[in-house]
Order: sequence, then structure tokens, then C-alpha cells
Amino acid sequence: MEEPSEHDELSELATALRRQLQRRERAGIRVLLKGESAAAKAAPTAPQTNLLTGVADDLLAKDSAPVRAQTLEELRDAIGDCRLCRLCAGRTHIVFGVGNPKARLMFVGEGPGRDEDIQGEPFVGRAGQLLTDIITKGMGMKREDVYIANVVKCRPPDNRNPEPDEVAACEPFLRKQIEIIQPKVIVGLGKFAVQTLLQSKVPISKLRGNWHSYIGIKLMPTFHPAYLLRNPGDKKLVWEDIKKVIKELQNEDA
Ligand code: URA
Repeated sequence: MEEPSEHDELSELATALRRQLQRRERAGIRVLLKGESAAAKAAPTAPQTNLLTGVADDLLAKDSAPVRAQTLEELRDAIGDCRLCRLCAGRTHIVFGVGNPKARLMFVGEGPGRDEDIQGEPFVGRAGQLLTDIITKGMGMKREDVYIANVVKCRPPDNRNPEPDEVAACEPFLRKQIEIIQPKVIVGLGKFAVQTLLQSKVPISKLRGNWHSYIGIKLMPTFHPAYLLRNPGDKKLVWEDIKKVIKELQNEDA
């Protein structure tokens, strides 16, 4: 068979690149190309660099379907069969989130593990059972009353930490979920979720137990349930944090 010429290879590459850009555009991802005018880059809508990930923060075009979504269903539809980062290759399900779309309390974890990937629902494994106990036995609420989501929606291979570009691709979806739900309080579960939300590298042991703010919403960082399974002695610290959350929700009611 005849060897493909350099021209054929270049043309194949160009086609692959064009398809990739079209896919990203359909998903609403802004792509700044080399040579794009300095004015465009300096415009007020230019993406801000995320201090933690070092990646442009504002990857979603202003008029993209995910940004326009008004409900969780619309957002889920807009995310579709997302291929924005390499995690799509190994996933069984996109684990979007679960719970009350009008929840006053939202929990945010890191990313799906094996059980979550299989079932398509966040926090359903051993750590999930502990979170469910915190919600039901500790707070006297039902799991369906709250909303539970993760920073990344697809399982990282071997449960490794998500990479900065994976977080940068997925975090806008979480932000949009939070904007739609408008919870009164967010509980950030563990170092990874909390440091991502707060764009901070301060250790979770220092952040936990104190109120912070994420897009104007009260955020209480606490330890991740998986950490508690390994360090049950720290459950009492989480209980301290959860009591502050209960009090805050009661104050909101008053
Ligand atoms: N750990 C997380 O951070 N999220 C899940 O959904 C499950 C385990």
C-alpha cells in the first residue's frame, strides 16, 4: 500500500483538530487561539487564571448551553456526553449530582469513586454511607432534602486526585449547579473540594470549622468522610463543624 504523503497527514491532522474545536464549541468551551488579538485577550470577558489550577477559569462561553441553563435538568442536558477532559475515557457514568434542586444545604465532595461511577450517584460507597449517617442521624434530615455533588463528575482512574486541567474543565458545572440551587450553606468535604472552591492551598485542618464564602454563599469546610473512615477519632471535629451548620440553618429560619 502507498505511504500517506506529508500533505495527507497534515490534512488529516487539520480535520481532527477542526472536529475537536467544533466539539468544544458545541459544548460551549472558549478556545483562545495563538494569534488571537491582544484586544480580545484583554477584554473584560477574558478568562481569569484560577490561582489553584493555573488554568483559565472562565472556559465556558457566555452564551453556551451550560451557562444559559436555568434548571438542573437543562444543565445536565447541556453537559450531555461530556468529552472535555481525559476522565471521559474511563467513566461508566457522569455523576452529575443528586438531591433536592431547592436544597438549603449542599455537600460538595471531590469526585466519584468506583461505586459512584457504577451507580451514577455521588457518595454511595462506604464514605457515602458515613455521609448519609451524618445527614440523617446527625442532622435529622433526609438525604433527599439536601443536594450532593462533586468537583469533578467523572471518576479519576484508580481514585487518583483530579488533575488541574480536569478540575478547570468541570468546575464551571459545579458553580452553575450551585448558582441554580442557591443553597444557604455549602459543606465542603475534604481538602480537595475545599481548596478548589476557595482557591486556597491552606491545609484542611486549618480551614475546617470556620465559615468561608463561595460566590456569596456560606461555606463550612470539614473533613472528608473517607478520611474519617481512616481516622475515626476526628469524627468529633466533624460533629463540631456540623453543629455550626445546623445552627446557621436554624438562624436562617428564624
Ligand atoms: N468521594 C467523593 O469525594 N465523592 C463521591 O461521590 C464519593 C466519594
